Amino acid sequence: MTLTRKASGYWTNFSRFALDFVYPPKCSLCGSFGPQNPCLQCQGEMMPNTPAIAYETIDDLDFVGSVYRYPGRAGQAVRQLKYHRCTQLADFMAECIRNAIDTEGLEYDLAVPIPIHWLRLVSRGFNQADLLSRGVERRSTALRRVRSTKPQAGLSTSDRLRNLEGAFEVVSEVSGKSILLIDDVVTSGQTARECAKVLRNAGAREVGVLAFSGDVYQ
Ligand SMILES: [Zn+2]
Repeated sequence: MTLTRKASGYWTNFSRFALDFVYPPKCSLCGSFGPQNPCLQCQGEMMPNTPAIAYETIDDLDFVGSVYRYPGRAGQAVRQLKYHRCTQLADFMAECIRNAIDTEGLEYDLAVPIPIHWLRLVSRGFNQADLLSRGVERRSTALRRVRSTKPQAGLSTSDRLRNLEGAFEVVSEVSGKSILLIDDVVTSGQTARECAKVLRNAGAREVGVLAFSGDVYQ
């Protein structure tokens, strides 16, 4: 048994070595070769939001937060992950979310990644918010997207609101709970606000959102 496990370990290491030789690991943002993705240079070019969290009530949202500003490398990371399937970036991005939760001392009962519709899940292969909430404690799939929506970008404010109406439903007990929504990007916060509305209607006590990137402080 031990021998089999050892042999399997050697084979895995050899396979990784061979893959690295044929396809050397490189940064998904600038293309430079190296083991870290994104590379340290690109990580350093991301612009942190200061402060990361704005404790202002916006409709049903108690706070809005994002780790980095969207312009530049952070926005590029979001687009590379979502539209070019560079899922290797997700480890770093999820770590940023976990660090922000610790640094900001966020207290919550459930961490809920904002869901995408199953049709989009099938075409994309993953929900980016799910990947970014990896390793976050008390993660929950309390929300489901029941209606497919158009991308929010490019829509007018009223069309954005109409687009999201009835898009989400609560599928587990949230009564009296404090909910931390997690997403890849927050701009106008309308998606998070719609989620907060249905969570509040289901009895949630407090709802906030933390995203990897956002423009909320400009
Ligand atoms: Zn780079």
